[in-house]
Amino acid sequence: MSLAVSEPSAGSDVAGLTTTAVRDGDYYIVNGNKKWITSGTKAKYFTVAVRTSGSESRGSGLSLLLMEKDMPGFTIKRMKTTGWWISGTAYLTFNNVRVPATHLIGEEGQGFRYIVHNFNHERFVLAATTNRYSRVVLQDSDNPYNPGISPMNITHIIYILMITLIIL
Ligand SMILES: Cc1cc2nc3c(=O)[nH]c(=O)nc-3n(C[C@H](O)[C@H](O)[C@H](O)COP(=O)(O)OP(=O)(O)OC[C@H]3O[C@@H](n4cnc5c(N)ncnc54)[C@H](O)[C@@H]3O)c2cc1C
Repeated sequence: MSLAVSEPSAGSDVAGLTTTAVRDGDYYIVNGNKKWITSGTKAKYFTVAVRTSGSESRGSGLSLLLMEKDMPGFTIKRMKTTGWWISGTAYLTFNNVRVPATHLIGEEGQGFRYIVHNFNHERFVLAATTNRYSRVVLQDSDNPYNPGISPMNITHIIYILMITLIIL
């Protein structure tokens, strides 16, 4: 299962996301793109942030939909990354995907609140992880019995710092 919020032009600015879900009878018709989706190449199900009403840069019109990878018009492409290959980071494209209205998660228009509620602890965990890894590297470099910081540690710390800088 993957969480699909970020878009090519809406990362930190979640309220600015532009993927639309337009109600059509018992379905939503979804159009747009999602970028940097962790486990996107492996997931069967996706929690997707969509705009059900309102204009860009406003959080009030966002909702969450449960989408399945085999839905017609839903394309998943693996993204080339310099590391974290096991994550299967993906680019998703929705081209007139018909999603049953029963796949709405929670209430329509409450998506922004659900997303930022989840981000609160996610950001905290990232900050704590980065802090701990930094301490490990510092301790290793100070230890007289340790020949030095291993290349593995350096790679690890660089990735974690990069991701934290981007996400925070
Ligand atoms: C490894 C990885 C996995 C990811 N997995 C997922 C996933 O599973 N699902 C998903 O939805 N997304 C995922 N993302 C995307 C991630 O959430 C976004 O990268 C993040 O939201 C930042 O967006 P951005 O990269 O577009 O950077 P931007 O929003 O362009 O930000 C760039 C920099 O500018 C800063 N900045 C932005 N706006 C402001 C402002 N108003 N004031 C001050 N500074 C600002 C940011 O802090 C950042 O340092 C993943 C990203 C990575 C790297």
